[in-house]
Amino acid sequence: MNGSALYETYARLPLAFERGEGSWLITADGTRYLDFAAGIAVNSVGHAHPHLVAALADQAGKLWHVSNLYEIPGQRRLGERLAENSFADKVFFTNSGAEALECAIKTARRYHFTNGEENRVRIITFEGAFHGRTLATIAAGGQKKYLEGFGPPVEGFDQVPFGDLEATAKAISPDTAAILVEPIQGEGGIREVPAGFLRELRELCDKHGLLLIMDEVQTGIGRTGKLFAHEWAGITPDVAAIAKGIGGGFPMGACLATGEAAKGMTPGVHGTTFGGNPLAMAVGNAVLDIVLEEGFLEEVSRKGLLLKQGLASLADEFPHVVEEIRGSGLMVGIRCKAANSALQQAMREEKLLGVPAGENVVRLLPPLNVTDEEIRDALERVGRAMRALSHSAEEKSA
Ligand SMILES: *Cc1c(COP(=O)(O)O)cnc(C)c1O
Repeated sequence: MNGSALYETYARLPLAFERGEGSWLITADGTRYLDFAAGIAVNSVGHAHPHLVAALADQAGKLWHVSNLYEIPGQRRLGERLAENSFADKVFFTNSGAEALECAIKTARRYHFTNGEENRVRIITFEGAFHGRTLATIAAGGQKKYLEGFGPPVEGFDQVPFGDLEATAKAISPDTAAILVEPIQGEGGIREVPAGFLRELRELCDKHGLLLIMDEVQTGIGRTGKLFAHEWAGITPDVAAIAKGIGGGFPMGACLATGEAAKGMTPGVHGTTFGGNPLAMAVGNAVLDIVLEEGFLEEVSRKGLLLKQGLASLADEFPHVVEEIRGSGLMVGIRCKAANSALQQAMREEKLLGVPAGENVVRLLPPLNVTDEEIRDALERVGRAMRALSHSAEEKSA
């Protein structure tokens, strides 16, 4: 590892893939892994989807990049489609989730500034949150392990305990601009925010003139069986950040806002060189072609249930391994009794990939177009991994 020229910021597995096909990743020697990590909820329609490949190749032969100084037709179209299918009127395209969050934070502060309340800059966030790795988003996430050694945290974030309405209400001051929340904490361990709590946050925001910002970077673009996870609560935010799934593997994100919330974002106040570039827009539009197809989201819900029910029976079968199964749609977490890394490794031995998360959870985030057969195959692999783990636990105690 020390021979590598790369930053040592990742403890990488000694595993590399040469290509992907749908829900499968294939190494150079031909070993096939069932990919229920999907690049951490990024490969929303699987690897090398023919429609995405064609969209990217077609655009690559025409035009890669022009500055945002010009009209970009694919950007206009994707913005309109996102707006038509969401609460939003306005969209700003970025290259990543953290940048989409940066735009969301700036949008909220600028909204109050434009209203003549420039003191209103503070944003309430929740313990266990993850919003990215830029200086502002590590401050928003508030996790010590990500803040340590990087100097004074960016000012203006007030963190309250997860799901604590009273603490949230108490944290509101005349300087508060917004509340920022993930509908389901992803990195935090597939912790679902109850729909009732999201509705109460909406009410608090309305009462105090705050903007409600949803971080849908992981939950958005169909992951939970709705285009956006907040739809399950029957509420709308004022601003939302998306990324991961919208690019299907091409790096991109977006900040969505109502016209009112975005009113301060006038010419010159914000920008990006690469954001919304024609290649990204071609792929983003191709992803939406698939996700917005009639019946696609219902299928995500149905398949999510199949996965969750299968995991629930495994939890019954292996009570010494599984603490709890949680999540929504194709965003499912196995909370482990022993270290999640042990299950993760046992799964890898069965050639099944998942993603670790907080609270000792292994996340399963398959492509949204995963087949029933692949889900059943994955469940068999999880079962074998759990059996191996419970055997080794028995051997230890014997
Ligand atoms: C991944 C993630 C981010 C950060 O996205 P990047 O593209 O890595 O910057 C922010 N919020 C949530 C909820 C995420 O899952």
